[in-house]
Amino acid sequence: MTADRGDAARPHWRDWTWQLRERIRSAEALARWVLPTADEKDAIALLASRFHFVITPYYAALMDPDDPNCPIRRQVVPATAEVRDPAGLADPLDEVAHSPVKNVIRVYPDRIAFCVNNECALYCRFCLRKRMVGEPGWAMKQRELEAALAWIRRTPEIRDVLLTGGDPLVFSDARLDWLLGELRAIPHVELLRLGTRLPVTLPFRVTDDLVAMLARHHPVWVNTHFNHPKELTPEAAEACDRLTRAGIPVGNQSVLLRGINDTPDVMRTLCEGLVRLRVRPYYCYQAQWLEGTAHFRVPIERGMELFRGMRGRTSGFAIPQYVLDTPHGKVPLAAPSFRGREGDEVVVESWDGHLWREPNPLEP
Ligand code: SF4
Repeated sequence: MTADRGDAARPHWRDWTWQLRERIRSAEALARWVLPTADEKDAIALLASRFHFVITPYYAALMDPDDPNCPIRRQVVPATAEVRDPAGLADPLDEVAHSPVKNVIRVYPDRIAFCVNNECALYCRFCLRKRMVGEPGWAMKQRELEAALAWIRRTPEIRDVLLTGGDPLVFSDARLDWLLGELRAIPHVELLRLGTRLPVTLPFRVTDDLVAMLARHHPVWVNTHFNHPKELTPEAAEACDRLTRAGIPVGNQSVLLRGINDTPDVMRTLCEGLVRLRVRPYYCYQAQWLEGTAHFRVPIERGMELFRGMRGRTSGFAIPQYVLDTPHGKVPLAAPSFRGREGDEVVVESWDGHLWREPNPLEP
């Protein structure tokens, strides 16, 4: 059986395991959803063996069949621009060098990203971890998960563990429950976080059983990854609502992507839509200097202008922090509004360009 648009009206549509089984993996299967362009067909043939091409039927149904520039389509359908990108690194954050044990990335003293799973529901063309996602060699065997847990147990500085991947929610409830239980039993691990794109790409994964299990391991936080307002569907809203009703704070980490969300209107619509779902826009990442992604990158100066332009025009908590991730951690990027000291005052610039002088004490 191959999924097509007709499936969206059938009961199995909301079964997340059916969605995983029926994922699109070829130009022929994609043609049941959109008419692939010559460039897309060439790119699928050229890239299938390098950066995995896999899309859930749910996410494919969000694509505009008539528009190759559809922001959903561009995130997951290969383009030959990926092959033409001469520069870009495989591991721009030097994550391998920051791993004391396999798939545990430690950049800060007190927290780690633990890549528990190398699989995702679908594969994003701009993925920072495209070197490893979907690659069998990066899968965590049981003994490797145990080795990572042993390292966390003997590293008392670690108080915050982010389960990521790949996507930890591709695990079964039972496996995730076991893993969270092992982590929760470590006295110095205070906070458990999950980084997952499934509320966006496969929202049916967020079942009542899943959230009940997650809530047994509180405090649990979730960060998800919406990039465009088209992704804010009723199904995604339901997934986020399930999580927040279980007391799980949900944040969003997007990536600034050329032609997808790099205009003030699209970014503001996305962030205001997220806030309506009670999802806090947390970070927006500058797209990394990553192989095959030059066509997605936006100059940082324009990114700073975009987020500066949001200030004063929407609620402050609807504006994510624009950051550049580096091998040394995240660096906030912001157009300066602090102009400096003049005598006993500092001069600052407000969102609408007014200069304001604020009396400012000196250190005694
Ligand atoms: S869901 Fe996240 S980890 Fe998976 S391919 Fe997309 S960006 Fe990468």
